Amino acid sequence: METCSVLIVGGGPAGSTCARRLRDAGVDVIVLDKAVFPRDKVCAGWITPAIVQSLQLDPVDYATSRVWQPFTQFKTGMIGRPPTLTDYGSPVSFGIRRCEFDAYLLNRCGARLQLGEAFQSMEADAEGWVVNGRYHAQLVIGAGGHFCPVARQLSPRPETGDDPVVLAQEVEFLLPEHQRANCPVSGTCPELYFCPDLAGYGWIVRKGDYLNIGLGREGERNLATQLEAFLTDLRQRSRLTVEIPQAFKGHAYHLRRHAPSLKLPPRVLLIGDAWGLAYPQSGEGIRPAIESGWLAAEVIATARGDYNQPLAQRLEEQCISRFGHGSRPATRTGHWIAPLRQWAASQLMKTRWFHRRVLLDRWFLHTQQPAL
Ligand SMILES: Cc1cc2nc3c(=O)[nH]c(=O)nc-3n(C[C@H](O)[C@H](O)[C@H](O)COP(=O)(O)OP(=O)(O)OC[C@H]3O[C@@H](n4cnc5c(N)ncnc54)[C@H](O)[C@@H]3O)c2cc1C
Repeated sequence: METCSVLIVGGGPAGSTCARRLRDAGVDVIVLDKAVFPRDKVCAGWITPAIVQSLQLDPVDYATSRVWQPFTQFKTGMIGRPPTLTDYGSPVSFGIRRCEFDAYLLNRCGARLQLGEAFQSMEADAEGWVVNGRYHAQLVIGAGGHFCPVARQLSPRPETGDDPVVLAQEVEFLLPEHQRANCPVSGTCPELYFCPDLAGYGWIVRKGDYLNIGLGREGERNLATQLEAFLTDLRQRSRLTVEIPQAFKGHAYHLRRHAPSLKLPPRVLLIGDAWGLAYPQSGEGIRPAIESGWLAAEVIATARGDYNQPLAQRLEEQCISRFGHGSRPATRTGHWIAPLRQWAASQLMKTRWFHRRVLLDRWFLHTQQPAL
């Protein structure tokens, strides 16, 4: 039996950040992931400066052999309408490729890595958990993303209807060499276009020589239709001038909503998408994954080996004070209000102030919230 103090299931940004902070605090950690890294993750790959700061990323070192795309401008608008350009004049966020970013974070975290092995089981004993019948850990952290097996086994989310899922489709591909100079999408300027019903948005983002296109929507209705409408619009306005060489990939995740408290047994924590922490307005999930991993590590380090303390409750308090309680889904406020919201949003979308100060600064860049 291999033993450790903490076993983390999932080596994405939540798991690797938590592992690194725990190693810094002298805790013995194993990270178990079903994938062998580098692995792909369906994602636009947009990160904010707060992440760079929290992770103490050195962009120069990172960029030596990986894609690192500074963003200085944004085009934002509604599908089917011309966008508004907002120019910040200097980098306000960055584009990365998840296959590179996640592998970089995991490789430097300092934990023992068990890659290519899926979580299969966990059974409690007097001093913690036996995972997969061959690892003994005093504490287990579920960091396995939206389909995290630890979360599903120990704390299935209640079907209240208050907690809809975001469904998204994305494709990322290398631009053919002869099309790189003529690609109409600038590397410094991601483009974001909202669906007419405001239930989601599409993006087209260039990162170095890669183009990333996708669309995400809250709730399960109309994803394929809206994606098709978005692609047609991009083509008609000459934003998309190349053939997409591969199929879109889909994924799902929860936004931070008014979900009830998690009911977890002692010696178990959840972080990142396993808990459903992504920002409700933008769907950004990397920062909450990293920050929840960091906060979990602090809660654990403070417990000084006594993991029978109510650690999940402490982590929940920390996350609420960091991210708030979350908002209720718009659909729960009543059907009559939807057309009103759409009308108000379309009026606001006509003002540059709204695009910059609310949509970008507040909802997408979170400039009001300093790094951890
Ligand atoms: C289309 C799309 C675009 C997005 N774009 C952005 C964006 O631009 N910026 C942003 O901030 N957020 C974005 N997000 C959200 C972001 O991708 C997630 O919130 C983030 O990846 C969560 O990190 P995590 O570490 O919690 O989980 P993940 O990154 O999902 O990592 C979970 C890990 O657990 C492992 N795992 C899963 N099951 C098992 C198992 N049974 N056994 C062992 N290991 C297992 C997986 O292999 C994986 O490595 C996007 C999401 C989607 C779907």
